[in-house]
Amino acid sequence: MRKLLILLLLFPCIGFAQGSYSINDLKNGKNKHDSSYVYTLPFEHKKKVFLIQGYESMFSHKGERALDFKVKNGTTVCAARGGVVTAIRKDSDVGGLKPENLSDGNYIFIQHDDGSVANYWHFKKDGVLVNVGDTVKTGQPIGLSGNTGYSAFPHLHFEVQGYDGVGNFTQLPTRFYTQRGIIYLRPGRFYRTLH
Ligand SMILES: [Zn+2]
Repeated sequence: MRKLLILLLLFPCIGFAQGSYSINDLKNGKNKHDSSYVYTLPFEHKKKVFLIQGYESMFSHKGERALDFKVKNGTTVCAARGGVVTAIRKDSDVGGLKPENLSDGNYIFIQHDDGSVANYWHFKKDGVLVNVGDTVKTGQPIGLSGNTGYSAFPHLHFEVQGYDGVGNFTQLPTRFYTQRGIIYLRPGRFYRTLH
């Protein structure tokens, strides 16, 4: 215990690193020292969207820090944070809940200036509006949502991968600007983009 105390005194950032907080602490706003980037909801101005799965939701996000927004086929998806497009796929027209469907998804990966990478999944066939190497701005339309890959209904899967406060490459929980303030999202709620 004493050792831990000394460590915390020497390296206060360890105790407050994002990676050391539980998902519930984040959702309840207990992380007062949060200096993480604030993302923009990945949809058009004032669009109202329903979050069907949040961090560690039991259906397909067990142990995952990813978000599923339930949106109609063809909904415009925008960059939640600017960066450079590092990977895309847009030729799939297949979706479902069979194990092989995991490799059927259309996607866009965008790398941010801190090295983290946002993954956007399930775009409709030919619904990817950007190319590898493109620089995109926050809020810029990047694709049209769909139901490709491991997916039971049209939705957008969003997650950010990067290094946590203790040096592990992992899924990072992300805060968003919403009509309810700057928050970590919870499943079962509607959110509206502000920008
Ligand atoms: Zn998902």
